[in-house]
Amino acid sequence: MKLDENFQNNSKVATNGMLKKVFLTVFTVVISILMMGAVNSQASSSKVNNYIASHNIKHNSVSKQIWSGFPRNKYRHGKNKPEGVVVHETGNSSSNIWGEIAYMKKNYRNAFVHTFVDSGHIINIASTKYLCWGVGYPGNARFVQFEQVQMHHKKSFAEEVENAAYYTAYILKEYHLKPNDACYDGKGTVWSHRAVAHYLGGSDHTDPNGYYKNRGKKYFHQSYTMSQFYKLVLTNYGNL
Ligand SMILES: [Zn+2]
Repeated sequence: MKLDENFQNNSKVATNGMLKKVFLTVFTVVISILMMGAVNSQASSSKVNNYIASHNIKHNSVSKQIWSGFPRNKYRHGKNKPEGVVVHETGNSSSNIWGEIAYMKKNYRNAFVHTFVDSGHIINIASTKYLCWGVGYPGNARFVQFEQVQMHHKKSFAEEVENAAYYTAYILKEYHLKPNDACYDGKGTVWSHRAVAHYLGGSDHTDPNGYYKNRGKKYFHQSYTMSQFYKLVLTNYGNL
């Protein structure tokens, strides 16, 4: 009797243990699947990009207003040979595109970029055949660079981002460059100032990441990221 009782008790314990193990395994698998789903949907669904598509937001055309006062220096591979595009944001919360352009013409000896973008304009002020001075050495000798002026409304931010993505795609197409996100590995044709600073040096700037994150959260309850921006560049590139 005692032996049988022990045997029964032991087998109960064993059964309980196995059930626990099975339950834990199933639980872990279910949680993993749920987490993978959350990560995937975050990566594949950008609220800003979706808003641009669902509101049928269209880019402006590029307005060339080249100022002859900027210095003309060749890229490292020569005139007309940029290797990619750098996306900037001014970091100035109280300026507009006209003020930014006027300021840059006055202060070009310190820094200048090729183009300015806002919700209603893409204004090219320095010839993209020659390098500009927006990210320091060595990036300046490699890239076309443009600034985004800060926007303060949901729709104007979305319009600006669409203009920025279109302009990036437009430059890639113009110079026969293949789209390739450089922001996560330091290799490619689409760069943030932050990625240039991180992978190539030349400055310690982190734009436009902070601006994208801030406006995304403020107006769309989701950070806007360079990888989401890159997807919008691909969409625009496909439409060219
Ligand atoms: Zn910058």
